[in-house]
Amino acid sequence: MLITLLYRLKSLALECLFPIFCCQCEKEGALLCMDCRKKIVFRPPVCFVCGAIVPARAESGIPAGRTCIICRARTPIYAFFSPFSYRDPKIRTLIHDLKYKRMRVIAPLFAAVLQDYFSYYAVSLPDDAFLIPIPLHTKRRRLRGFNQAELIAKPLAEGLRCAFLPAMLVKTKKTKPQVGLLAEERRENMHGSFLTANAGKIAGKTVVLVDDVKTTGTTLEEAAYMLKRAGAARVWAVTVAH
Ligand SMILES: [Zn+2]
Ligand SMILES: [Zn+2]
Repeated sequence: MLITLLYRLKSLALECLFPIFCCQCEKEGALLCMDCRKKIVFRPPVCFVCGAIVPARAESGIPAGRTCIICRARTPIYAFFSPFSYRDPKIRTLIHDLKYKRMRVIAPLFAAVLQDYFSYYAVSLPDDAFLIPIPLHTKRRRLRGFNQAELIAKPLAEGLRCAFLPAMLVKTKKTKPQVGLLAEERRENMHGSFLTANAGKIAGKTVVLVDDVKTTGTTLEEAAYMLKRAGAARVWAVTVAH
């Protein structure tokens, strides 16, 4: 009781010292005010590989964002959802603030917006789907103090009423940044960098991988290969930006 009160006082004090402003209109009060949240313009779901817009085919139950027929043989990702461009400076700043300024409050905001995105495009996950964040290597996680993908995936799983499995994937290899590497080098760099734990849980299930950004897609694909090898039926990928 006392501890709760102290926490409340602490956050109140912090709010007075560091007031929060809307990331869009700069009005004081919330990181994203309700007016701006309603006005967000989403990018439509696109194919994970070629980036072509993929609308839903409701009559056959196929969700928007389903990897297009031509690209299916080239990726283990079944469908992809990512509402923003990483080139959008406001989004890029928010992602940087979360990761490097350690502004954890941004993570549940991303989760809320991702949930808006799912309902806007009428995407519903299978009831028994699992949400799994892309892990960080233990050393990097220790350095940062948290894994941003996990901070986004947890409230998203709650919002979507899905199971959250943060320990399913383990990053076993420290990998170089993917940017600037050729496709072959990227695959080589990521190869064998994840391990699956307790794999029986996901056998025959749909798994939703969550990360902050998709750049080349190799990280998500490597994780997806491991999960499929462990028995997952389908792997979806969700990122804030791409
Ligand atoms: Zn606003
Ligand atoms: Zn495609």
